[in-house]
Amino acid sequence: MIATTDKIIITIDGWSSCGKSTLAKHLARELGYVYIDSGAMYRAITLFFLRNHIDWTNPEAVLEALQNISLEFVSNEKAQQSEMHLNGENVEYVIRDLVIAEKVSDVAAVREVREFAVAQQKKMGKKKGIVMDGRDIGTVVFPKAELKIFMTADNEVRVERRFQELYDKNPAITIEEVKANLEMRDYIDSHRAVSPLRQAKDALLLDNSNLSIRQQLEIALKWVHERLQLKKQEVH
Ligand code: C5P
Repeated sequence: MIATTDKIIITIDGWSSCGKSTLAKHLARELGYVYIDSGAMYRAITLFFLRNHIDWTNPEAVLEALQNISLEFVSNEKAQQSEMHLNGENVEYVIRDLVIAEKVSDVAAVREVREFAVAQQKKMGKKKGIVMDGRDIGTVVFPKAELKIFMTADNEVRVERRFQELYDKNPAITIEEVKANLEMRDYIDSHRAVSPLRQAKDALLLDNSNLSIRQQLEIALKWVHERLQLKKQEVH
């Protein structure tokens, strides 16, 4: 672990399934930072809406429903990860289901939903020392973050990775279903009116199609050190 008294905010945005969360988790562990998976919040809200038959095209119904939603990241020491709890229930595994993935981008495009989630995400960054991944973290949630990374990878690589992940849980899943879901989410995420997925002007591009986790981590850590160095120079 690297000893840093000066903590920064690191944002990782990018397309679906290009390894954002894997890199973010490793980076947070290496730096002793907190990792926040902002997508888990949109997935948990989607789960609540589906379970309670909320019509998310109706702003009034959405605002009322959001009042009954409490989201919390709870650390699971055994699994060594932080897990999403919805109104006190651990939903970390349920929210990874394709049923949620099919609807989450529609729900995440709703203005009221974004305002609700973004307000909580901003609070989580108050003390710095966090790595947050998502779609609008460097552009909207933390526009002044010290280090912004935008990740991408070849389509086939992304489909294959997500397929392997989902297949382990559900062997009935097909590669076509996974491909269609990724393409649909990417399209909705990058074309929505509110906070569309964009590479922030000051974000560094990381294409990990042919990089191991170790190699990605080394690149990201080099960037972190450069930013910490810059911070020190600014202070002196
Ligand atoms: O990161 P993950 O794939 O779990 O995110 C699920 C969905 O949540 C994305 O496809 C996107 O629609 C939405 N999302 C978002 N903004 C974020 C994080 C996720 O709109 N910051």
